[in-house]
Amino acid sequence: MFDGLQSRLGDVFDKLRRRASLSEDDVNAALREVRVALLEADVALPVVKDFIEGVRPKAVGQEVLRSVTPGQQVVKIVHDHLVEMLGGTPGADEQAAREGRYPGAAESDLDLNAPAPVPILMVGLQGSGKTTTTGKIAKRLSEKQRKKVLMASLDTRRPAAQQQLKVLGEQVGVATLPIVPGEPPVAIAKRALSTGKLEGYDVVLLDTAGRLAIDEELMAEVVAVRDAAQPHETLLVADAMTGQDAVNVAAAFNERVGLTGIALTRVDGDARGGAALSMKAVTGKPIKLLGTGEKLDALEAFHPERVAGRILGMGDIVSLVEKAAETLEQEDAEAMAKRLAKGRFDLNDMHKQLQQLTKMGGLKSMMQMLPGVPKIQDQLKKANVDDKVVKRQMAIITSMTKAERSRPELIKASRRQRIAKGSGTSVPEVNKLLKQFAETQRMVKKVKKMGGMESLMGGGM
Ligand code: GDP
Repeated sequence: MFDGLQSRLGDVFDKLRRRASLSEDDVNAALREVRVALLEADVALPVVKDFIEGVRPKAVGQEVLRSVTPGQQVVKIVHDHLVEMLGGTPGADEQAAREGRYPGAAESDLDLNAPAPVPILMVGLQGSGKTTTTGKIAKRLSEKQRKKVLMASLDTRRPAAQQQLKVLGEQVGVATLPIVPGEPPVAIAKRALSTGKLEGYDVVLLDTAGRLAIDEELMAEVVAVRDAAQPHETLLVADAMTGQDAVNVAAAFNERVGLTGIALTRVDGDARGGAALSMKAVTGKPIKLLGTGEKLDALEAFHPERVAGRILGMGDIVSLVEKAAETLEQEDAEAMAKRLAKGRFDLNDMHKQLQQLTKMGGLKSMMQMLPGVPKIQDQLKKANVDDKVVKRQMAIITSMTKAERSRPELIKASRRQRIAKGSGTSVPEVNKLLKQFAETQRMVKKVKKMGGMESLMGGGM
């Protein structure tokens, strides 16, 4: 279901020849597919239009990296623009990973930078997951950030609502404000804050009442509570599965109450995540948290790059392109391309190719980034191709003399024995590598006869 865009773009770009940069026609063709993918992912139409117009000038004329296809390059540009629109910084995840930080967390967490107790107001429709999310946040703040948290339910309409929060509090080991029957919401909020202050709480979470739909009474009540509590964060809890409705809800709450952020729930379902993009675009407010299940620890920091990948419905082509850009030694590649164009390919070239493969993080990690991978991995397993094999193959080539590498026909039986010994492998392995090499060489010559490398090199990975 998620590989829609990938296969579509594949179809578009299969028809294109390899070029140095993306032409306007290429980009337009690709963006038509991106548009459909975004609509399928439940992104609102006006948001899709803005998105496409925003990304077009970024893509036209972009240089195509040598080791990726134009299709992959467009996906990367689209992805980066999407990450930006979701409030992230493209490449921030990799940066975080390199620095040993938890990716995404820094960009999107709750702001507790205010005098204690910090009031956090939870708003949203009934059934959106508001109470559950309140409990999840409380659990996380108290366990991970060692905060002293007090929760209070302001839902005086649903008879069991206050009780539900109390039970939740007991489950996660977080205090709840004692229930006073008949007390109105604004009074509960005030009591929660004064209790918070008196008893030294760091954070007070106020869980407001919801309705099945937005109505004036609900909004008026929430506004009154907001004015009384002066929340530092006002979080809308919205159900990702409701798509466009969630976007309307977000717009309404933002206009009337003023939000500081959004917690999107049920992203563990099969919603495509388009609601996230629409909500951010429509309200301008960041998605801060994702609810990923019914369990009370199923709460994640919002992760623009991951959600972008999910919306686009692709394997992690993006990091593949980034890696290619990082590791490819342009000169090597150019020199090799020239040699290949002349129909030349020797064991030195093969060694370079294998090296490139390991630099890119190895076959397995590369394959994991591609969509439709389980199938490929099965095939790889059958073909017995894995990183260990690649390393052994490189060792075999390194154990050859210079002359042997450029003229493999020199490698007769006795030399094969020497090479096997020198590389710590076996003669059958050496034979296999030479056979594989001969096949590749044959293909290179054949392609040359067919008139150029473009078709081969443009064909994708
Ligand atoms: P409220 O009326 O907005 O307070 O909604 P509740 O917190 O009572 O949640 C309604 C239902 O949604 C409950 O059964 C929750 O377990 C479930 N729920 C809440 N968040 C999530 C989530 O992120 N994923 C899934 N799958 N279920 C959730």
